[in-house]
Amino acid sequence: MKHNILILGAGYAGMLTATRLERLSAPFTMVNKKPYHYFTTLLHEAAGGRGNPTDYTVPIEKVFHKQTSQLVVDEVTSIDRGARTVTGKSGTYEYEYLVIALGWVPEYFGIPGLAEHSLQLSSVDAAAHIRQHIENEFKSYLQDRDLTHLRIAVGGAGLTGIELVGELLDWVPKLCVELGIDRHLVDVQNIEAMPNILPQVSPDLREVAKLTLSERGAKLRTNTKIVKVEAGAVYVEGDEPVQAGTIIWTGGVRANPILAESGFTVDRRGKAQVNAYLQSVDDDHIFVGGDSAGFQDEHGKPVPPTAQTASQMGKLIADNVTALMHGQPLKGFEYKSKGTLASLGPEVGVGDAFGIPVRGVVAGLAKEATKVEHLWELGGIRLIADKSGDVVHL
Ligand code: FAD
Ligand code: NAD
Repeated sequence: MKHNILILGAGYAGMLTATRLERLSAPFTMVNKKPYHYFTTLLHEAAGGRGNPTDYTVPIEKVFHKQTSQLVVDEVTSIDRGARTVTGKSGTYEYEYLVIALGWVPEYFGIPGLAEHSLQLSSVDAAAHIRQHIENEFKSYLQDRDLTHLRIAVGGAGLTGIELVGELLDWVPKLCVELGIDRHLVDVQNIEAMPNILPQVSPDLREVAKLTLSERGAKLRTNTKIVKVEAGAVYVEGDEPVQAGTIIWTGGVRANPILAESGFTVDRRGKAQVNAYLQSVDDDHIFVGGDSAGFQDEHGKPVPPTAQTASQMGKLIADNVTALMHGQPLKGFEYKSKGTLASLGPEVGVGDAFGIPVRGVVAGLAKEATKVEHLWELGGIRLIADKSGDVVHL
């Protein structure tokens, strides 16, 4: 069957394309490997045990309102531009216009053993797995009293690593009480190659983040490059290996490899190059959004791979694909930053909201407001009423 508009991926870009297409009364089919959209921006909360993994998901069928909006649950394996088909594990789908929003995968930089011997915060299932793994390690400590089980090494102190560490520092003491373990025996290390953590926030707020996390017991090891990982051991340049029961890699992202494998023109992070209208430079019937899109502004500067970028792209793609179908002019993508907020646990954070520096509880509240905004964009007041109790903590 031929689908006029086919959307691949139900993340921030894919879902925002879909909801906008519904408003424009344009029929579409979405292919996603799960029947739900998940809040990637909150995966650290799911891993750190703040809520149940299902709290961070929304069934896609609940977001779609029109009968002309269809969901196919399948895992895409390749795209054939010549034949205008997409192949998945369960079928092949023809399209007239294609929207690729397949997101990101961890970037391993070719570090030996890293992919095989680390956990990643890359999906809601992966977040649940991290949480379970830590619990199991702590329980193993009760059996053999080997302190390695209580060491958690997080590689990379960008926003993902820092938000995860903040969350773990909140959860671990509770887990210790539950299992009867002395909390002071637990060692949470964040290992970062660069001289500083959190390059995205201003230097003074970085210091606030460092102090907040160190006071709560994290070891922030900057200037420490991970060079190799084996089962239970992280090798760093110029220092002793870190023996850890839990090794989590949050050292960067690259685009979904399906793009490069399907012959798209990609950059060094595997992102498909797009023009000003978010059309693939290889085919103007294909739009690419979110972390899979290699967009550069008029100064040649890439936009950051974030949910706010992906959501803005998703909406514009819906407008542009319908404009293209009706022979109308397309609009160029203009990224508008709303700021960057890093949570440092459930209540506090650091960052900036629309350029205004925020810290502590104010930053924490601003972060909660971004969750409400996403629910609003996705499903309006109905979804806020339905989901805010699960994920928003005011
Ligand atoms: P994704 O959200 O990754 O969605 C991709 C979708 O494609 C998923 O539904 C996936 O299931 C599906 N998919 C993947 N492969 C296949 C396949 N082969 N077949 C079918 N379906 C497939 N950004 C912010 O702006 N603010 C934040 O506060 C923030 N916090 C973050 C916190 C964490 C812990 C992490 C990891 C990231 C955070 N980000 C944040 C970054 C943000 O989450 C990403 O930039 C964003 O998710 C990208 O959106 P996307 O639509 O491109 O891809
Ligand atoms: P990142 O690339 O921003 O940070 C990765 C960190 O890992 C860097 O500081 C890097 O120096 C470090 N690193 C890389 N190789 C290393 C090595 N060998 N040894 C030790 N450290 C190493 O990746 P991320 O934090 O996963 O973020 C990915 C994207 O998602 C970014 O665009 C980020 O802005 C976005 N994001 C945003 C938020 C938010 O807005 N709150 C939260 C999470 C992620």
